[in-house]
Amino acid sequence: MSAASLLCPDCGTSHAGEERFCPRCGMPLVAAHTEAVVDERRERARKIDPRYAEGRLVWAAGARNQVEAEFIAGLLLEEGVPSLIRRAAGFDVPDFMASGPREILVPASGAEAARDVLLETGIRDPAAALVTTARPARLIAGLLLVIAVVAIVLFMATHTWD
Ligand SMILES: [Zn+2]
Repeated sequence: MSAASLLCPDCGTSHAGEERFCPRCGMPLVAAHTEAVVDERRERARKIDPRYAEGRLVWAAGARNQVEAEFIAGLLLEEGVPSLIRRAAGFDVPDFMASGPREILVPASGAEAARDVLLETGIRDPAAALVTTARPARLIAGLLLVIAVVAIVLFMATHTWD
């Protein structure tokens, strides 16, 4: 195994043996045959519809983790829409490199096609993935509200007004 035999599965760049993550994408590097990755990139490029590859990148969907994001990106690619997966803001910590919420960005010209793909495949509300992770905080907020209301009612019921 040579020093540059580690590859980023996302962008396909090769790295020296001592690096663990791709400095560009944060993906864990894999020891893979260069040819296989190049073929995969070529295959990916072949699938991309040039009409969907124009304009600035816009938010298309949220995902709970890299695996889910890659699944969505795969669905989009099948329809010719290229996409970029990036870590959601606030999770830019090395420990969370392979986990944590992701955002899927697509070129502006492919945004509508991406939305159609996500609707067709049952991912009706892509933002729901992020809402799910925020639910525990909501439950706690709701619980605190109930406790506050009960406390006020009890205070009013037991308080003697002079
Ligand atoms: Zn990379």
